[in-house]
Amino acid sequence: MADLPDGRHFFRGDDGYEQARAQTVWNARTPERYPDVVVQAVDADEVVAAVRYAAQHDMRIGVRSGGHSWAGNHVRDGGMLLDVSRLDDCVIDTDTRTAVVGPGMGGSVLAGRLDRQGLFFPAGHCKGVRIGGYLLQGGYGWNSRVLGPACESVLGLDVVTADGERLHIDAEHHPDLYWAARGSGPGFFAVVVAFHLRLYPRPPVCGSSLYVYPMACAEEIYPWARAISAEVDRRVELQIVASRAVPGAGIDSPSIVLASPVFADSEAEATAALALLDTCPVRDRASIAVPYAPSDLDTWYAGVMSNYPTGYRYGTDNMWTSATADELMPGIHRILETMPPHPAHFLWLNWGPSPQRQDMAYSLEDEIYLALYGVWRDAADDDAHGDWARSNLATMEHLQTGVQLADENLGRRPAPFATDAAMAELDRVRSVYDPAGRFHSWMGRV
Ligand SMILES: Cc1cc2nc3c(=O)[nH]c(=O)nc-3n(C[C@H](O)[C@H](O)[C@H](O)COP(=O)(O)OP(=O)(O)OC[C@H]3O[C@@H](n4cnc5c(N)ncnc54)[C@H](O)[C@@H]3O)c2cc1C
Repeated sequence: MADLPDGRHFFRGDDGYEQARAQTVWNARTPERYPDVVVQAVDADEVVAAVRYAAQHDMRIGVRSGGHSWAGNHVRDGGMLLDVSRLDDCVIDTDTRTAVVGPGMGGSVLAGRLDRQGLFFPAGHCKGVRIGGYLLQGGYGWNSRVLGPACESVLGLDVVTADGERLHIDAEHHPDLYWAARGSGPGFFAVVVAFHLRLYPRPPVCGSSLYVYPMACAEEIYPWARAISAEVDRRVELQIVASRAVPGAGIDSPSIVLASPVFADSEAEATAALALLDTCPVRDRASIAVPYAPSDLDTWYAGVMSNYPTGYRYGTDNMWTSATADELMPGIHRILETMPPHPAHFLWLNWGPSPQRQDMAYSLEDEIYLALYGVWRDAADDDAHGDWARSNLATMEHLQTGVQLADENLGRRPAPFATDAAMAELDRVRSVYDPAGRFHSWMGRV
């Protein structure tokens, strides 16, 4: 019989169970779902033992790296919750520009280590997110419009399969499982114990532009952003964030912030790449207008995290679209009118048109990404704010081509996140590697 690690497994009813369960979820809105046992593994051998134990006791498994799944996808009723956040080793090879990194490594921590060695990886935009869940679902990170979703920089993975076997998977070894690992996200059907990553030289210049407009300019800003979307230099990530206040800028009124990182070879190139963003038709109404300023990742992380405070309750949803501004504006007005107080916010991300991607499960994206983040502190406001994101995007579903798994809300609003062909192939590969359904599938899909 396989053993569970002494002192690091908690059956329901044990002292420490609730703490071990709740601390796996970053969203303060901890799901009311209760696994039979929570197991905290510290290395790949313990992962093997835990998976074998689950197989022997016919338990299904939910895997957690950083617990930043908004929906707490890994927390399910019954079975095992396998916490691999302690697998956070990181070995960087500067000569080959590769790294072998555990799933529990924070993306921002990795980015910082690489930065100090003149290297770069398209890690996510927020602190706290671990690479385990981030890379499996795609990974929209720094300079991703140039480097691709981060899963395109995954050269291989070390995994533990449903029957407790350790495999290295890459383009030559188990290519079908490698294909599935790049884009299946919270429906992946093995445990990743390490990622083998391709690294990049650190771009010489990291800068940004910043414009803040009153929310009353929405009618001009979004149609303009849609009109220029295909022309925005791919080194520029145009993020438009609407919220009821911008405390970091001392603004206490509804505002639209255009904050755009750029990565380039020189300041002159960065400035030129950002120039298009200075052509907004209501530019003279901006309360803050900075066409270019040098920046760095620490500054960026601090800015982004002001919209994602820890200890708050979150309800998110999202959609990809290539709809016209005329089609989108009624829904956008409704989003802005019904928006809860800051830090709740609405993100418009200029993403496409995208180049041909690698052949992988990640297979659905579009020109514009819209994401709603309901954020509030008090559980008493769950009814008031909990459905803001889902309900608004449900009314815009006819304009949606799919959703990102990064901000998925599949349990409450099922939607396509991969092409039909990719879904069929995922089902086929799952039936080969996890025929008994040991690992939970996506919520909202039985
Ligand atoms: C504040 C915040 C900011 C974010 N910013 C970004 C961003 O900039 N870009 C972006 O792309 N995404 C972003 N996300 C989304 C985030 O990348 C995903 O939620 C991701 O899944 C989180 O990874 P995790 O390991 O922290 O979470 P987890 O909740 O641990 O993982 C999510 C799911 O992935 C699966 N999984 C995790 N680890 C493993 C493993 N080792 N083996 C097998 N399956 C596993 C499980 O099904 C799990 O339920 C953000 C999320 C938050 C909360």
